[in-house]
Amino acid sequence: MIDEKFIRETFLNLVAIDSPSGHENGVSDFILEHLQEAGVKVSKDASGNLIGKIAGTGKPLILSAHMDTVEPGRNIKAIAGKDVIRSTGDTILGADDKAGITEILSVLKTLRESKKQHRPLEIIFTVEEETGINGVSKLDLKKIASKEALVVDASGLAETIVTASPFIFVMDVEIRGRAAHAGNSPEKGISSIQVAADAIRSLKLGRIDSETTNNIGIIRGGEIRNGVPALTLIHAEARSHKLEKAKREVEKYKQAFEKSVKKYDAKMKFKVYLACSGFKYSENDEFVRSLSREWTKMKKKPHFKKAGGASDANGFAAKGIKAVPIGYGGKNPHAVNESVRVSDMKKIAQFITNFIINTSK
Ligand SMILES: [Zn+2]
Repeated sequence: MIDEKFIRETFLNLVAIDSPSGHENGVSDFILEHLQEAGVKVSKDASGNLIGKIAGTGKPLILSAHMDTVEPGRNIKAIAGKDVIRSTGDTILGADDKAGITEILSVLKTLRESKKQHRPLEIIFTVEEETGINGVSKLDLKKIASKEALVVDASGLAETIVTASPFIFVMDVEIRGRAAHAGNSPEKGISSIQVAADAIRSLKLGRIDSETTNNIGIIRGGEIRNGVPALTLIHAEARSHKLEKAKREVEKYKQAFEKSVKKYDAKMKFKVYLACSGFKYSENDEFVRSLSREWTKMKKKPHFKKAGGASDANGFAAKGIKAVPIGYGGKNPHAVNESVRVSDMKKIAQFITNFIINTSK
């Protein structure tokens, strides 16, 4: 049985501790103390990720949530109604992902009290998920035995099971033209802004197809109004659920910039790297099926979702671990109208507990 009072109190305690990315210590101390009191063997790695181990029978399983939150996320005052908890509207609430942390702690408490046989667990609370899944990427795999993970970090319906997430390439393009006085001798200059504009005009941005998107998020060029701008920087991305398609889009960006740079006799540095690995699981995958079965047993309909964004699950997947993001129950993450229901947190804690017990044989 899930203890509703525990869920409510733990969540409100967590939300009261500031934890913007890079400053997770307060939340980390709170969790550490909680786990140690519960007798869980727990360690902290060099990056600040917490790793707890709990013995059990059957295949080991990772339960994971991230400890950091986005801005504006300091001095959060939660308004707790009978079921819905929200912020005052000046800050986020931080249910992303403190609801996930709460649910995992509640699962551990319930398992301890039930004394039922369950799978061995590796509990991983990460730092710096929001700044580009940095914490999980630095995890030392040698310390991890599990090949499967539940990442409790999907917003929306409680019954959410995420089966796909994109590969994301990021590109930093530096265009070098030539500075000149804009009034006296513009013909001596090469406008890097014009080169950038010429290239961008020829690119297709936004949605490319159902699983592929392009975006230029930042463009910075020029320094003074009356000078031909020598330098323009462009930060772009291409993401797709298919690696090949994402690569194809990167190639289009590259060719477009190369063409315009040549046309205007400018120079360019084009840096590209895979910021995050994607994953795709079939709904018939045994791990995914065993998850959806558990919701069905609870008389709920599992909600399969293909994500447009990344989470720590992408970091685990890149390390060869089958990681499935599941709902934490919150709505409107990263916004000041973020909210979560206690009843949803309770439902998810029950779902995870059942899953861990029922898949232990
Ligand atoms: Zn999150």
